[in-house]
Amino acid sequence: MKDLYKNIPKIDNIIENNQIKNRIEQYGRNFVLNIIREHLDSIRENIKNNIISRIDEDEIINTITYKIDSENKNKFKKVVNGTGVVIHTNLGRSIFSEEISQEICENLSSYTNLEYSLNKGERGHRYEHINDIIQKVTGAEDSVVVNNNAAAVLITLKTIAEGKEVIVSRGELVEIGGSFRIPDVIKQSGCILKEVGTTNKTHLEDYENAITENTGAIIKIHTSNYKIVGFSQSVETEDLKKVSSKYNIPLIEDLGSGMLLDLSSYGLSKEPTVQETLKNGIDIVTFSGDKLLGGPQCGVIVGSKKYIRKIKINQLLRALRVDKFTIMALEQTFKAYLNIDTINNKIPTVRMITESSDKVKIRAEKLFAELKNIHSNKLEVNIKQCYSKVGGGAYPLDKLKSWGLEIVVDGLSEGEIEEFLRNNDVPIIIRIEEGKAFIDCKTIIEKDYSIITNSIKRMLGVTNE
Ligand SMILES: *Cc1c(COP(=O)(O)O)cnc(C)c1O
Repeated sequence: MKDLYKNIPKIDNIIENNQIKNRIEQYGRNFVLNIIREHLDSIRENIKNNIISRIDEDEIINTITYKIDSENKNKFKKVVNGTGVVIHTNLGRSIFSEEISQEICENLSSYTNLEYSLNKGERGHRYEHINDIIQKVTGAEDSVVVNNNAAAVLITLKTIAEGKEVIVSRGELVEIGGSFRIPDVIKQSGCILKEVGTTNKTHLEDYENAITENTGAIIKIHTSNYKIVGFSQSVETEDLKKVSSKYNIPLIEDLGSGMLLDLSSYGLSKEPTVQETLKNGIDIVTFSGDKLLGGPQCGVIVGSKKYIRKIKINQLLRALRVDKFTIMALEQTFKAYLNIDTINNKIPTVRMITESSDKVKIRAEKLFAELKNIHSNKLEVNIKQCYSKVGGGAYPLDKLKSWGLEIVVDGLSEGEIEEFLRNNDVPIIIRIEEGKAFIDCKTIIEKDYSIITNSIKRMLGVTNE
């Protein structure tokens, strides 16, 4: 045992090794020394407990190098989305175009006029930068932006109806993934939930009969992630507006996705746009920034000045405020909607959703050709038609025609293929379809093809020529 202790390499020797020298240059001396010390301590501990019986200096150096490298790897990273779900909440929802990312990145390492009025040379307001563009695109009188749509609903209700009853149809008491439940949000905002109607049918009289002097608001929730079909009825906004105006009660709608374009010409179901919703008379509309809008995570609140002004002076806004990155990204996102002809270059979410199946097929064929080029008789690749999904709780019943590749590897199950790709340096997330590993090309950008090809080569043990 004494010999073992004696054979443990000295720190001074370890740091003379080229591999380690390299790491010191890259990550700094203290960082590396700490990892070396920790590792040597664990070796001494293992000798004491009779867990090791020999000392191998090379092995020690390699382990230390591995530990240094893995501690420096980011845990939060880029992944390739081969699931075919365009707005995948677990994969970060909407992505930015190269064009918009570049513009944002250029500003990130500089100071900005976030809360500075360049006209007056004094303190300004962070929400002012995006007010004009949001008004122009949505037609709203006023706007304010918070951390996400859940926060938007919360601060809206708390500002407008705290301590009072909020009327909601029983058909709209939704739960969104990640435990956002309308009844809980209403409670959190200090309002009292007043349910009306039934699960499948709510009539105008149900709303009107529920109104008392203690009514603070009527809220409509867009049932974005499910549909009630068959013997069902909900109240049109125009009719509801008549009632809310008669009693002077604010009418709120949580639109969820916040679509600005009518996608029905692309074969998708008709979903209400933000502009239509406002035109129909809703006083305050809230929606997510990173769902169908295709921008950063945030919650956009648009509507009448009268109510938005109150939200802007609510102290809670300070806790829910968005950072400069979000404001920058949101401005670029809304600006993209000014020119519909170029929107596909600027908003990948819109491009992917509206991209024709033929175009996806052409992209799928390119990946197919790359994989067919791999010299291995263990690999079988089949190109297939499939259906992708919009995701993000939007268009729950719509299927997007798409193309993808079925990957079969001799000796590996579909689950093992999925796991191997998921553990790639740049993880590739795929789905299992009809018992086979399946890569949906709808959500894959061509520049990422080499990541997939190289990973599959490694899986097959084929070296890069
Ligand atoms: C997605 C969604 C939310 C939550 O939005 P976040 O931006 O994720 O907070 C709330 N309401 C509806 C109807 C939604 O679809």
